[in-house]
Amino acid sequence: MIFILIGPPGAGKGTHSDALLRDFPCTKIATGDILRRHIKEGSSVGRRCEEIIGQGRLVDDATLWELLEPELTKLKDKAVILDGYPRNLAQATQLQEVVASNPIRAVVYIEADDNTLMERLCGRMLCPNCQSIYHRKTRVPRQAGLCDNCQAPLVVRPDDELEKVRTRLDIYAAETHPVVNYYQGLGLLKAVDGSQGIAAVYEQIKVMFRTKMV
Ligand SMILES: [Zn+2]
Repeated sequence: MIFILIGPPGAGKGTHSDALLRDFPCTKIATGDILRRHIKEGSSVGRRCEEIIGQGRLVDDATLWELLEPELTKLKDKAVILDGYPRNLAQATQLQEVVASNPIRAVVYIEADDNTLMERLCGRMLCPNCQSIYHRKTRVPRQAGLCDNCQAPLVVRPDDELEKVRTRLDIYAAETHPVVNYYQGLGLLKAVDGSQGIAAVYEQIKVMFRTKMV
């Protein structure tokens, strides 16, 4: 059975899916991870992806499906969390191909308004050394601009700069939000209020997950 976590960038999908992995017997499938693995192993689809990325293009839906489908088949008897997929309507309808053997149990939609997301994403700082994440308001490093763990100077990821954040939210609204409506129409959508603190949001997700898992 498949669980999908969907929501705008900054809604906390990664954080919450990692927490679910700790609390429930389930596996996470992230297309980015599969992609990196194929590139590393040098498989034929991996080499193709490497070429596409090298040209500065995005990996197309058909190629992503080629990466994802075997994983879904392999894990069809397990509870699987999809994080970061489907990102558009074409991917969502493609995913329906496997629901006979691997039904979608719930789509958890983490909702949050643009102001909240802008504030979260634009304030993020990353330690390039140990990958710890900080935030100028909610997770302030002890010494300004330095990592608490390893004292390396913190950086803002290019993706988290103001202009880029605006673009990411616009792309989400145009391409991914229609997927939310699609699953609502199928009666699978469970919305949680993602503007609260991480712990409060996770409590809602956990309750939902527990009832759908059985
Ligand atoms: Zn560090």
